[in-house]
Amino acid sequence: MSFDVPFILPVLPDSARLVEDYEDIISSNWFTNFGPKERAFSAAVAGRIGTSGAVTFTNATIALMGLIRGALGPGERASHILVPSFTFAAGPAAIEWAGFTPLFVDIEPEGLQPDIDQAYTALDRRDDIAAILLCNTFGIGNSAIARWEALAEQHGIPLLIDSAAGFGSDYADGSPVGTAGLAEVFSFHATKPFAIGEGGAVTTDDPRLASTMTSFQNFAFEPGIGATALGLNGKLAEIPAAIGLRQLERFDAALHSRREVLARYRAGIGDGWGFPDGIERSSVCFATIIAPDRSRRDTALSSLVAAGVEARAYYAPVVHRQPMFSDAPRAGTLAVTEAMADRVVSVPVHESMAPAAIGRVLDVLGTVTA
Ligand SMILES: *Cc1c(COP(=O)(O)O)cnc(C)c1O
Repeated sequence: MSFDVPFILPVLPDSARLVEDYEDIISSNWFTNFGPKERAFSAAVAGRIGTSGAVTFTNATIALMGLIRGALGPGERASHILVPSFTFAAGPAAIEWAGFTPLFVDIEPEGLQPDIDQAYTALDRRDDIAAILLCNTFGIGNSAIARWEALAEQHGIPLLIDSAAGFGSDYADGSPVGTAGLAEVFSFHATKPFAIGEGGAVTTDDPRLASTMTSFQNFAFEPGIGATALGLNGKLAEIPAAIGLRQLERFDAALHSRREVLARYRAGIGDGWGFPDGIERSSVCFATIIAPDRSRRDTALSSLVAAGVEARAYYAPVVHRQPMFSDAPRAGTLAVTEAMADRVVSVPVHESMAPAAIGRVLDVLGTVTA
């Protein structure tokens, strides 16, 4: 089915500029394995975020696996990693692939972000939590980030952060998302605000962690020795790296435009409907709206789709309701996760989105009554 207003509409670099990059790559005869475009893109990502290092990856899911392995070494099933269920399943899947067990934590209702109070209780009561995989859900920098860092430090465990949709977002104190915890992970998938197609990066100030991840993404090979640990292939190739470099040149304008679209949605939304706290500090991957109740959420979704708007419900079903993860342990009740998953409706945000498309979304939502 095609929609008048698709969920995503990535703006990719001007093809004339990319032709030059493509010709550079062909003439250098260097297509992947830490080539000049990838090296420049990694440096530019670190420079933009303000960390000492950035390791680019073929996608964020493999970056998450590399980060968990790099921070903790080979996993043990008896060892848990705290992670929200209200997120994309890639984080919990990466935990499993790295050999650990996800332990689901609830969210708070205002920002839909992981609940720090439940995390405190879980870490006080259990001694089998090896790390926290905080998710900056919807790319929104957690408003309690300093408390999360203090909690991890108090228990001597790493704070790893899945900020997949948050390249360009800021924390409440104005510092960039990408600078907190031991490391943060970004996705550059076509659906994200900073899109190159498939790609990802981990930003960190820990050079040892960066070099472990670089080894992991290159089969854990060492020259003359071969595989020194369990690695895989997670390297970013030259063509997507070249796209990333071009995207960075115009990213500030893209960010500005996405935030303006959000501002229009906020100005036009009806009483009883809301947005997660902090969304205005994000790079606005899409706009998740919180409906007054489930029935109006359901009506909103079906009416939007009927009106040609590709709306979705992020994140529903939540991860602990998905078959793969239905048996995973929980840190406590997931009552807020379940309640809020029934009330979310996610609407498109495009760079330079047509005012008529924004108006169509708002008009449809305006017709939804109890
Ligand atoms: C998109 C996303 C991912 C996966 O990113 P890929 O680059 O597609 O692997 C992981 N976590 C969250 C929260 C995401 O939104």
